[in-house]
Amino acid sequence: MTQLRGGVFAVLRVIPLVNDIVPLPENRKEVPASKFVKLHEEGHKVFHHAVLRNLMKIAFWMVAVWFMAAMMVRWNASFFEAVLWLHLAAIPFRMLLHFYCWSQEYECDKYALEKTDKKVAKSAMRELALCEIPHTALFALVYREHPTVALRSQRMLKKVISG
Ligand SMILES: [Zn+2]
Repeated sequence: MTQLRGGVFAVLRVIPLVNDIVPLPENRKEVPASKFVKLHEEGHKVFHHAVLRNLMKIAFWMVAVWFMAAMMVRWNASFFEAVLWLHLAAIPFRMLLHFYCWSQEYECDKYALEKTDKKVAKSAMRELALCEIPHTALFALVYREHPTVALRSQRMLKKVISG
């Protein structure tokens, strides 16, 4: 199971603040611009994903600002305390936001698959898996706007592909 490779390290990184102070880079190397990747990006444009995603993010930040203000004004928390609490309180919201982003990613994978074929999709997922820093699904749900390659290939091809 590749999910275990990220293992203890990935679990530690889910602790609030750790990953925000030392963010894990998106990929370990540049993702090659394959036909599949280009079609996936085209999918985001066709479905107007950026607009919806940014609206979700604005709503998210408005709640965060309200939360910070409430902590400091109503409960007399210091700025530092408010930041710490925000990090804890934000986890479920972030998971929700990412869950929503993931549905967009799956939609675009499907779009790209429909315009190519299984073979192209499979090799694109293999290339992507090589670029990916191994991490668990839980880590991805808390911190990533993209599901792991394992999740994407499972969803799209009914077959887990990983690095
Ligand atoms: Zn995408």
